[in-house]
Amino acid sequence: MRLWNMKTRLEFLGTGTSQGVPMIGCDCEVCRSADPKDKRYRSSAFVQYGGLDILVDAGPDFRSQMLRAGIRHLDAILLTHNHKDHTGGLDDVRAFNYIERAPIRIFCEKYVEESLRKEYSYAFSEIRYPGVPEWQITNIDDNPFLVEENVPKVRLSWVDGKGYEKIPCRQPEHLKSVEVIPVRGKHFNLPVLGYRFGKIAYLTDMNFIPEQEFAKLEGLDHFIINCVRRGKHLSHFSLEEAIAIARRVGAKHSWLTHLSHRLPRYEELCRELPDGILPAYDGLVIESE
Ligand SMILES: [Zn+2]
Ligand SMILES: [Zn+2]
Ligand SMILES: [Zn+2]
Repeated sequence: MRLWNMKTRLEFLGTGTSQGVPMIGCDCEVCRSADPKDKRYRSSAFVQYGGLDILVDAGPDFRSQMLRAGIRHLDAILLTHNHKDHTGGLDDVRAFNYIERAPIRIFCEKYVEESLRKEYSYAFSEIRYPGVPEWQITNIDDNPFLVEENVPKVRLSWVDGKGYEKIPCRQPEHLKSVEVIPVRGKHFNLPVLGYRFGKIAYLTDMNFIPEQEFAKLEGLDHFIINCVRRGKHLSHFSLEEAIAIARRVGAKHSWLTHLSHRLPRYEELCRELPDGILPAYDGLVIESE
């Protein structure tokens, strides 16, 4: 089911690099800026697509981002890669386990799951401490995959002194589902997935996109690409590279994310970017046409 014409809404929950902006202890002009658009949580996006609520990445600012955006329901979390600025908030999905009475579904590559199993060993142990996060992980690769609405197969019922008990429950006959197109990129030597939802594509933490992946980026209304600073960087696109890729992709609108304090302040950066390319900021909402 390829629903290219389905409307997509994307809210930027965070647009900052791994340390966020302002950076702890920094007195530079960007870190001291009073403009709210220069305050950047770690990168994450909330996508509403085909009636589903999908989060891309859950970094260390996850809790604050959910509260600020007033998000009370998630059908799935898609992870781009295993770095902490994209996975460090996953313990806080406990809040969603509690309000939805269901495990939260996570889609990621196998190596990302292996990394989560080490970093969050307590969430995977045989004898579990009551109240650890409940995740249901699905491995994906660079082939399109379906995300279904999260109508749980089990209900989590809290039993005092014991933790959650899992009670099987009936699924409706027809679940809403959407097809997501992963887009492969490289982050120095680490494989990363970006995601396309209809006419919006969100790519972060890349410094290389293989040639064949550009076919997946045709006909976009909005293209989001990471950019960390001016000048070559080992694992992220530079400002110059991000502009060149945005031009090649040729979406109606292009947005830069994962920005660091080494780029100019928001207003200044807007002035120097070519037509059709703008820096994203926390709280910005874009919609496909
Ligand atoms: Zn990152
Ligand atoms: Zn700074
Ligand atoms: Zn990264």
